[in-house]
Amino acid sequence: MAPQWVLVCHGLVTLLVLVSFLCGHWPIFKGTPIQRIHQFITFGAYDYFLRFVGVVFGTKGTDAVLSVEYFCCDRPNPILQVLYLAILGGIYYLIAKSIFVYIPGYYLSGLHRYTSLLAVGVGLLLFLLTSFSDPGTVKAENVSQYLSAYPYDNIIYSEKECSTCKIPKPARSKHCSICNRCVSRFDHHCGWMNNCIGERNTRYFMAFLLWHFLICVYGTVAIVLVLVGRAKELRVIYILTVYYGIENSFFSLAPHVVQWLLSSYNTQILVTVFLGIVSLLLAGFFGYHAKLCLTNTTTNETFKWQEYVSWQKKLNEARASAAALKASLNGMSSERKPPESKWRSFFRKSPLEDVEVVVKSNMYDKGFIQNLSEIIFPLSTRASFTQTKSKSG
Ligand SMILES: [Zn+2]
Ligand SMILES: [Zn+2]
Repeated sequence: MAPQWVLVCHGLVTLLVLVSFLCGHWPIFKGTPIQRIHQFITFGAYDYFLRFVGVVFGTKGTDAVLSVEYFCCDRPNPILQVLYLAILGGIYYLIAKSIFVYIPGYYLSGLHRYTSLLAVGVGLLLFLLTSFSDPGTVKAENVSQYLSAYPYDNIIYSEKECSTCKIPKPARSKHCSICNRCVSRFDHHCGWMNNCIGERNTRYFMAFLLWHFLICVYGTVAIVLVLVGRAKELRVIYILTVYYGIENSFFSLAPHVVQWLLSSYNTQILVTVFLGIVSLLLAGFFGYHAKLCLTNTTTNETFKWQEYVSWQKKLNEARASAAALKASLNGMSSERKPPESKWRSFFRKSPLEDVEVVVKSNMYDKGFIQNLSEIIFPLSTRASFTQTKSKSG
C-alpha cells in the first residue's frame, strides 16, 4: 500500500477511536457502531479481560485484578501523575533531540529553543499547583463559613450531613470517597492530578488545560514549520520535479513529498500527530469546562441536574396521564354531553402534550462576569468569607 494511504487509514482509525471514546455515549450515536466501540473501550474490554483472567487463573486471579483496580481507581495514588511527567518529559526529549538541530532554521529563530523550555516549565508549574493545592476542604472549623457562602437551593441541594465527616454538608460540596474528605464546590476527582478539583483549584485546573492546549498547538505548528523549512532548504520540490521528471502539481508531488517526510523525519511526524490529537482532546475538555465555569455549574452538578430533569419529566407525564384518565372517566359518566365530531376529536391535543417543560433554575448562575470572578477569586479566599467567621464565632 502506498505510504499516503497508510497515513489516511491511520488518521481515519485514530479519528474513529477518538470520536467513539469521547462522544459514543451521545444519544445521536445510539445503536450505531460508534456506540458499540465506545462501550467496548470504556468498560467492555476490561470486562472481557476480567472474564479471561477468571477462566485462566480462577477467582484468585480476578481478586488480584480487582485489588489492583481498587488501588489504581479508588485510592489516592500517583500513577497518572508519574505517567503525565513521563509523557511531558518524553515528548520534550524527542522534540529537543529531533527538532533542535534544525533551529534556527528557514522559518524559526533560535529563540524557540528557550521559549519551548519556558512553555514546558510553566505547564509543569500549573500541574504542581493543581495537584498540590487545597481544592477547598470543608472541615469542622470552616463549615459555618461555607454554609453561609453557599446557600441551599432546595432543588439539587438541601440540608444534609456528611455521614463520614460528621459535619453539615454545604451546598455544592461533595464527599470525595477517594480522598476521604468533603470538598466545597466539588467538580470531580482528577486522577491525573491525584487531587479533587474544587472551589479553590478550579482556576489552576483551567489554566493547566488552556496552557497545555496552547503548548500542543505551538509544538505542532513549530514542527510543521521546521519540516516545511527543511523542504525549502533542501529544494525538495525542485529535485522531485527535475530528477524524477514529474510535473509541479499537488497531486503528482504529494505522494513523493509524503514518502520523503516518512523516510527522513518519522520521529517528527509521530510527535506532530501525537501533539495534534492531544491538542484536539484538550480543546474539547477545556471548552466543556469553560462552559461549566461561565454558567457556574460543576461536572458533579450536571449529573444532579440530569437526574432532576428526568425525574420531573416522569412526574409531569404521570400527572398528565392521570388528568387524561380522569377526563375520559368524566366523559363516560356524562352521557348527556353531545358526541364530539370525528374531526374535532382528531385535531384535539393529546393530554400528554400538555406536559410542562422542566426548567433548570440554577440560582448559583449570577451572570458570566461574576461566575468567572468566582473561579478566579474563590469565595473562601475573599475577606467577606473570613468576616463570617468572626461574626459566627
Ligand atoms: Zn465528608
Ligand atoms: Zn478527591
